Amino acid sequence: MTIPLIVHGAAGRMGARILSLALADPTFRIVAGVDRQAGRLRDLGVASDAPLLAALPVEKGAVVVDFSHPGCFAVLCQHCAANGMSVVSGTTGIEPAALDQALEAAAKRVAVLAAPNMSVGVNVVFQIAARMAKTLGADYDIEVVEAHHNQKKDAPSGTALGITDAICAATGRTRSDLVHGRDGQVGARRKGEIGVHALRMGDVVGDHTAYFVGNGERIMIGHVAHSRDIFAQGALRAAAYIGRATPGRYTMANVLGL
Ligand code: NAD
Repeated sequence: MTIPLIVHGAAGRMGARILSLALADPTFRIVAGVDRQAGRLRDLGVASDAPLLAALPVEKGAVVVDFSHPGCFAVLCQHCAANGMSVVSGTTGIEPAALDQALEAAAKRVAVLAAPNMSVGVNVVFQIAARMAKTLGADYDIEVVEAHHNQKKDAPSGTALGITDAICAATGRTRSDLVHGRDGQVGARRKGEIGVHALRMGDVVGDHTAYFVGNGERIMIGHVAHSRDIFAQGALRAAAYIGRATPGRYTMANVLGL
Protein backbone atom coordinates (compact mmCIF):
# COMPACT_ATOMS: atom_id res chain seq x y z
CA MET A 1 0.00 0.00 0.00
CA THR A 2 1.57 3.32 -1.04
CA ILE A 3 1.52 6.17 1.46
CA PRO A 4 0.10 9.50 0.27
CA LEU A 5 2.72 12.16 1.07
CA ILE A 6 2.60 15.95 1.31
CA VAL A 7 5.87 17.85 1.73
CA HIS A 8 5.42 21.14 3.60
CA GLY A 9 8.26 23.62 3.11
CA ALA A 10 8.90 21.89 -0.21
CA ALA A 11 10.88 24.75 -1.79
CA GLY A 12 13.39 24.82 1.07
CA ARG A 13 16.78 23.10 1.32
CA MET A 14 15.31 20.10 3.16
CA GLY A 15 11.88 20.02 1.54
CA ALA A 16 13.27 19.94 -2.00
CA ARG A 17 15.53 16.98 -1.15
CA ILE A 18 12.67 15.10 0.55
CA LEU A 19 10.43 15.68 -2.46
CA SER A 20 13.13 14.47 -4.87
CA LEU A 21 13.88 11.31 -2.85
CA ALA A 22 10.19 10.53 -2.28
CA LEU A 23 9.45 10.84 -6.01
CA ALA A 24 11.91 8.01 -6.63
CA ASP A 25 10.55 5.87 -3.76
CA PRO A 26 7.66 3.49 -4.55
CA THR A 27 6.62 3.56 -0.85
CA PHE A 28 5.06 6.97 -1.48
CA ARG A 29 2.54 8.67 -3.72
CA ILE A 30 3.21 12.41 -3.77
CA VAL A 31 -0.01 14.33 -3.20
CA ALA A 32 1.62 17.77 -3.30
CA GLY A 33 4.59 19.90 -2.46
CA VAL A 34 3.46 22.88 -0.38
CA ASP A 35 5.39 26.07 0.19
CA ARG A 36 4.42 29.66 0.76
CA GLN A 37 6.84 30.33 -2.09
CA ALA A 38 5.30 27.64 -4.31
CA GLY A 39 6.62 29.40 -7.44
CA ARG A 40 10.20 28.68 -6.36
CA LEU A 41 9.54 24.94 -6.55
CA ARG A 42 9.21 25.07 -10.29
CA ASP A 43 12.50 27.01 -10.51
CA LEU A 44 14.19 24.24 -8.50
CA GLY A 45 13.11 21.77 -11.16
CA VAL A 46 11.72 19.21 -8.69
CA ALA A 47 8.35 17.54 -8.47
CA SER A 48 7.23 18.38 -11.98
CA ASP A 49 4.59 15.62 -11.67
CA ALA A 50 3.19 16.75 -8.31
CA PRO A 51 0.87 19.70 -7.68
CA LEU A 52 2.81 22.59 -6.17
CA LEU A 53 0.59 24.49 -3.78
CA ALA A 54 0.86 27.55 -1.54
CA ALA A 55 -1.39 26.10 1.20
CA LEU A 56 -1.97 22.63 2.68
CA PRO A 57 -4.65 20.62 0.85
CA VAL A 58 -7.05 18.18 2.50
CA GLU A 59 -6.19 14.50 1.86
CA LYS A 60 -7.44 12.05 4.49
CA GLY A 61 -4.83 9.39 5.29
CA ALA A 62 -1.88 11.41 3.97
CA VAL A 63 1.35 12.02 5.91
CA VAL A 64 2.51 15.64 5.97
CA VAL A 65 6.30 15.91 6.21
CA ASP A 66 7.08 19.40 7.48
CA PHE A 67 10.44 21.17 7.27
CA SER A 68 9.32 24.80 7.18
CA HIS A 69 9.09 27.46 9.90
CA PRO A 70 8.28 27.22 13.63
CA GLY A 71 5.57 29.88 13.29
CA CYS A 72 3.20 27.65 11.30
CA PHE A 73 3.53 24.45 13.37
CA ALA A 74 0.41 24.85 15.56
CA VAL A 75 -1.86 25.64 12.60
CA LEU A 76 -0.35 22.76 10.61
CA CYS A 77 -1.09 20.31 13.46
CA GLN A 78 -4.67 21.60 13.80
CA HIS A 79 -5.26 21.29 10.04
CA CYS A 80 -3.85 17.74 9.96
CA ALA A 81 -5.73 16.51 13.03
CA ALA A 82 -9.02 17.97 11.76
CA ASN A 83 -8.59 16.24 8.39
CA GLY A 84 -7.16 12.84 9.33
CA MET A 85 -3.62 13.59 8.13
CA SER A 86 -0.54 12.40 10.08
CA VAL A 87 2.43 14.68 10.83
CA VAL A 88 6.20 14.18 10.66
CA SER A 89 7.96 17.44 11.51
CA GLY A 90 11.66 18.21 11.50
CA THR A 91 11.19 21.95 11.92
CA THR A 92 13.32 23.31 14.76
CA GLY A 93 13.08 26.45 16.88
CA ILE A 94 9.53 25.70 18.08
CA GLU A 95 9.06 26.79 21.70
CA PRO A 96 8.95 23.53 23.77
CA ALA A 97 5.59 24.22 25.49
CA ALA A 98 3.96 25.16 22.16
CA LEU A 99 5.44 22.03 20.54
CA ASP A 100 4.07 19.78 23.30
CA GLN A 101 0.64 21.40 23.25
CA ALA A 102 0.24 21.09 19.46
CA LEU A 103 1.50 17.48 19.40
CA GLU A 104 -0.60 16.30 22.36
CA ALA A 105 -3.78 17.76 20.87
CA ALA A 106 -3.14 16.30 17.39
CA ALA A 107 -2.04 12.90 18.77
CA LYS A 108 -5.58 12.25 20.02
CA ARG A 109 -6.73 11.96 16.40
CA VAL A 110 -3.70 11.17 14.20
CA ALA A 111 -0.13 9.82 14.41
CA VAL A 112 2.45 12.56 15.04
CA LEU A 113 6.23 12.71 15.30
CA ALA A 114 8.49 15.73 15.72
CA ALA A 115 12.26 15.33 15.95
CA PRO A 116 15.04 17.93 15.94
CA ASN A 117 17.24 15.58 13.94
CA MET A 118 16.09 12.69 11.76
CA SER A 119 19.49 11.10 11.07
CA VAL A 120 20.07 7.61 12.44
CA GLY A 121 23.58 8.54 13.60
CA VAL A 122 22.46 11.58 15.57
CA ASN A 123 19.71 9.63 17.30
CA VAL A 124 22.36 7.13 18.41
CA VAL A 125 24.45 10.09 19.67
CA PHE A 126 21.45 11.27 21.75
CA GLN A 127 21.37 7.89 23.49
CA ILE A 128 25.14 7.64 24.02
CA ALA A 129 25.38 11.22 25.36
CA ALA A 130 22.65 10.49 27.92
CA ARG A 131 24.38 7.31 29.04
CA MET A 132 27.80 8.97 29.27
CA ALA A 133 26.51 11.89 31.33
CA LYS A 134 24.81 9.51 33.75
CA THR A 135 27.80 7.17 34.05
CA LEU A 136 30.51 9.85 34.35
CA GLY A 137 28.60 11.75 37.03
CA ALA A 138 28.62 15.31 38.34
CA ASP A 139 32.42 15.81 38.33
CA TYR A 140 32.57 15.96 34.54
CA ASP A 141 31.86 19.31 32.88
CA ILE A 142 29.65 19.05 29.80
CA GLU A 143 29.78 21.50 26.89
CA VAL A 144 28.05 21.18 23.51
CA VAL A 145 29.35 22.95 20.41
CA GLU A 146 27.45 23.05 17.12
CA ALA A 147 28.25 24.54 13.70
CA HIS A 148 25.88 25.25 10.80
CA HIS A 149 25.69 27.19 7.52
CA ASN A 150 25.37 30.96 7.62
CA GLN A 151 21.67 30.97 6.59
CA LYS A 152 20.41 29.01 9.61
CA LYS A 153 17.81 31.04 11.48
CA ASP A 154 17.64 29.47 14.96
CA ALA A 155 20.39 29.01 17.55
CA PRO A 156 21.40 26.81 19.18
CA SER A 157 20.39 24.10 16.73
CA GLY A 158 17.50 21.79 17.53
CA THR A 159 20.02 18.95 17.47
CA ALA A 160 22.23 20.61 20.11
CA LEU A 161 19.10 20.96 22.24
CA GLY A 162 18.27 17.31 21.47
CA ILE A 163 21.66 16.35 22.94
CA THR A 164 21.24 18.57 26.00
CA ASP A 165 17.61 17.41 26.51
CA ALA A 166 18.80 13.79 26.48
CA ILE A 167 21.56 14.62 29.01
CA CYS A 168 19.13 16.60 31.20
CA ALA A 169 16.58 13.77 31.20
CA ALA A 170 19.29 11.27 32.20
CA THR A 171 20.80 13.41 34.99
CA GLY A 172 17.88 15.33 36.52
CA ARG A 173 18.81 18.66 34.95
CA THR A 174 16.48 21.02 33.03
CA ARG A 175 16.96 23.58 30.25
CA SER A 176 17.48 26.19 33.01
CA ASP A 177 20.91 24.54 33.53
CA LEU A 178 22.00 25.52 30.01
CA VAL A 179 24.40 28.45 29.57
CA HIS A 180 24.36 29.84 26.02
CA GLY A 181 27.74 31.24 24.98
CA ARG A 182 29.73 33.08 27.61
CA ASP A 183 30.56 36.75 27.49
CA GLY A 184 32.06 39.18 30.01
CA GLN A 185 32.66 38.65 33.72
CA VAL A 186 30.70 35.40 34.02
CA GLY A 187 32.73 34.06 36.96
CA ALA A 188 33.86 30.49 37.51
CA ARG A 189 31.92 27.68 35.89
CA ARG A 190 28.96 26.54 38.00
CA LYS A 191 28.97 22.81 38.68
CA GLY A 192 26.22 21.10 36.73
CA GLU A 193 25.75 23.79 34.09
CA ILE A 194 25.89 22.75 30.42
CA GLY A 195 27.53 25.25 28.07
CA VAL A 196 26.02 25.47 24.58
CA HIS A 197 27.81 27.27 21.73
CA ALA A 198 26.68 27.96 18.17
CA LEU A 199 29.02 28.64 15.22
CA ARG A 200 27.57 29.96 11.93
CA MET A 201 29.79 29.71 8.87
CA GLY A 202 29.80 28.99 5.15
CA ASP A 203 27.87 25.98 3.92
CA VAL A 204 28.33 23.68 6.96
CA VAL A 205 25.49 21.12 6.89
CA GLY A 206 25.67 20.37 10.63
CA ASP A 207 28.44 19.53 13.13
CA HIS A 208 27.84 18.63 16.79
CA THR A 209 30.33 17.79 19.52
CA ALA A 210 29.52 17.01 23.13
CA TYR A 211 32.50 17.37 25.49
CA PHE A 212 32.68 15.52 28.79
CA VAL A 213 35.71 16.83 30.66
CA GLY A 214 36.99 15.72 34.05
CA ASN A 215 40.25 16.37 35.84
CA GLY A 216 42.75 14.45 33.74
CA GLU A 217 40.66 13.41 30.74
CA ARG A 218 38.43 14.65 27.97
CA ILE A 219 35.88 12.57 26.06
CA MET A 220 34.19 13.87 22.92
CA ILE A 221 31.24 12.46 21.01
CA GLY A 222 30.89 14.04 17.61
CA HIS A 223 28.64 13.90 14.59
CA VAL A 224 29.35 15.53 11.25
CA ALA A 225 26.66 15.60 8.58
CA HIS A 226 28.18 15.46 5.08
CA SER A 227 24.85 15.68 3.30
CA ARG A 228 21.27 16.76 4.03
CA ASP A 229 20.18 13.42 2.62
CA ILE A 230 20.75 11.77 6.02
CA PHE A 231 17.92 13.94 7.41
CA ALA A 232 15.75 13.53 4.30
CA GLN A 233 16.12 9.73 4.35
CA GLY A 234 15.35 9.66 8.06
CA ALA A 235 12.27 11.83 7.49
CA LEU A 236 11.00 9.42 4.82
CA ARG A 237 11.70 6.46 7.11
CA ALA A 238 9.64 8.26 9.77
CA ALA A 239 6.89 9.00 7.21
CA ALA A 240 6.70 5.31 6.23
CA TYR A 241 6.38 4.37 9.93
CA ILE A 242 3.87 7.11 10.81
CA GLY A 243 1.82 6.37 7.68
CA ARG A 244 1.06 2.90 9.11
CA ALA A 245 0.80 3.89 12.80
CA THR A 246 -2.34 4.34 14.89
CA PRO A 247 -3.06 7.80 16.40
CA GLY A 248 -0.53 8.79 19.05
CA ARG A 249 2.79 10.51 19.62
CA TYR A 250 5.94 8.80 18.35
CA THR A 251 9.71 9.44 18.43
CA MET A 252 12.65 8.63 16.17
CA ALA A 253 13.61 5.98 18.75
CA ASN A 254 10.30 4.23 17.86
CA VAL A 255 11.01 4.55 14.12
CA LEU A 256 14.59 3.30 14.40
CA GLY A 257 13.89 0.65 17.03
CA LEU A 258 16.50 2.14 19.39
P1 NAD B 1 14.74 26.66 4.32
O1 NAD B 1 14.63 28.08 4.81
O2 NAD B 1 15.67 26.33 3.20
O3 NAD B 1 13.29 26.11 3.93
C1 NAD B 1 12.10 26.41 4.62
C2 NAD B 1 10.97 26.47 3.59
O4 NAD B 1 9.74 26.60 4.32
C3 NAD B 1 11.08 27.70 2.67
O5 NAD B 1 10.97 27.28 1.30
C4 NAD B 1 9.90 28.58 3.07
O6 NAD B 1 9.32 29.29 1.96
C5 NAD B 1 8.92 27.53 3.62
N1 NAD B 1 7.96 28.11 4.56
C6 NAD B 1 8.20 28.96 5.59
N2 NAD B 1 7.04 29.27 6.22
C7 NAD B 1 6.06 28.60 5.58
C8 NAD B 1 4.65 28.52 5.75
N3 NAD B 1 4.03 29.22 6.70
N4 NAD B 1 3.95 27.71 4.91
C9 NAD B 1 4.56 27.01 3.92
N5 NAD B 1 5.91 27.06 3.69
C10 NAD B 1 6.64 27.85 4.52
O7 NAD B 1 15.10 25.83 5.62
P2 NAD B 1 15.71 24.34 5.70
O8 NAD B 1 17.21 24.41 5.80
O9 NAD B 1 15.08 23.47 4.66
O10 NAD B 1 15.20 23.93 7.16
C11 NAD B 1 13.82 23.91 7.48
C12 NAD B 1 13.65 23.53 8.94
O11 NAD B 1 14.10 22.19 9.15
C13 NAD B 1 14.48 24.38 9.91
O12 NAD B 1 13.72 24.57 11.09
C14 NAD B 1 15.71 23.52 10.18
O13 NAD B 1 16.34 23.81 11.40
C15 NAD B 1 15.08 22.16 10.19
N6 NAD B 1 15.97 21.02 9.94
C16 NAD B 1 15.69 19.89 10.62
C17 NAD B 1 16.42 18.74 10.38
C18 NAD B 1 16.02 17.48 11.10
O14 NAD B 1 16.64 16.42 10.87
N7 NAD B 1 14.99 17.51 11.95
C19 NAD B 1 17.47 18.75 9.45
C20 NAD B 1 17.73 19.92 8.77
C21 NAD B 1 16.96 21.06 9.01
